[in-house]
Amino acid sequence: MIIETKIDYPTNHQKPLFENTTAYCFIGEIERDYMGDGVSIVKQDECDEEIVVCDSFEPQTINTTNFELLRENVPWQWVDKQGIPQTTNSGSACKLQEWFNCDSTRNGVTYLMSKIGNYSITPQTIYRILDDTKINVCLDTRDPNNKKWIPSIENIRIPMFSAFCPEQADRCGIYKDFFDATNTNILANFIKNKNDYDDVMDVLDWWWEGPYRNAKNKVYLNDKIRFSEGIITHEYQHFLYDRDSTISYMNGSNGLVSLKTNLEFQRTFTQFKCPEDVKKDPFYISVINSKIWQLIDDGVKRGRTIDPITKKDNTEFDCDVAARKTYDDIKKRINVWAKDNGIIQ
Ligand SMILES: [Zn+2]
Repeated sequence: MIIETKIDYPTNHQKPLFENTTAYCFIGEIERDYMGDGVSIVKQDECDEEIVVCDSFEPQTINTTNFELLRENVPWQWVDKQGIPQTTNSGSACKLQEWFNCDSTRNGVTYLMSKIGNYSITPQTIYRILDDTKINVCLDTRDPNNKKWIPSIENIRIPMFSAFCPEQADRCGIYKDFFDATNTNILANFIKNKNDYDDVMDVLDWWWEGPYRNAKNKVYLNDKIRFSEGIITHEYQHFLYDRDSTISYMNGSNGLVSLKTNLEFQRTFTQFKCPEDVKKDPFYISVINSKIWQLIDDGVKRGRTIDPITKKDNTEFDCDVAARKTYDDIKKRINVWAKDNGIIQ
């Protein structure tokens, strides 16, 4: 429309394109108008999504609800980029970096699940972390000469596997598992007299002291008895450290705030006229996703504690200490049961 109107301009604005041709085009003013108004008006009408003008520049934050704790063989659901609901399963996720020799045993494991489904025995649909995040953009119009798109990320899900993993220990020697000592059949099976009771209490004391402290002091477990509830508490403490370090890292000054402040994560209105163009740009998606992934991965890696005196990594010792409450409860339960059944006074 714009061009047709301009064709009515006086002929002195016209200039022959080639000699001996009747073709003419407009130069100068017309061209400028077309590049300017023309493009922006037409494109704006074509936007599939409404342009949202940013009304807040507060940094995005995450909290505990962004984390999901998985055990083995539990389902995981998400909606893929095409909007199709998908489901997979954590499967035998204890197998990640499983230990094969029997020099020492690994009773549990906690880790960030960057992939879910690769240990599933059902058809292998793989979920990759951030597969179901959504990038939203709003238009920052504070500087009318430099409008830009600012991202916010919806649906950041951080799947953490944290579980008791009996396989390797069982392969290396049959363990009796008292679980949380609430199953009186198990107690009755193994504790027949005061001697059995004392043995179980010794083992319980060993676990209370903690496998890492005992290993350091070269004190080894004689009776192959375990209380898997205590191992779960140790692993859960790892989860809490990882979760809390990730929250504070992502909410800190090098975290998600950079999406609002760092030009690397923004796009100008000159580059992209419509929100959907920014959000569909593969390069943009990969820049945003690799930033979020880096933040999560680094955040989880910071889930360590440091001994205030030796300045050495103290995480395992602290997780063992966190499990003591569980071993105290187990001790009380066995004690009550033994008294009720006349095994001790
Ligand atoms: Zn540990």
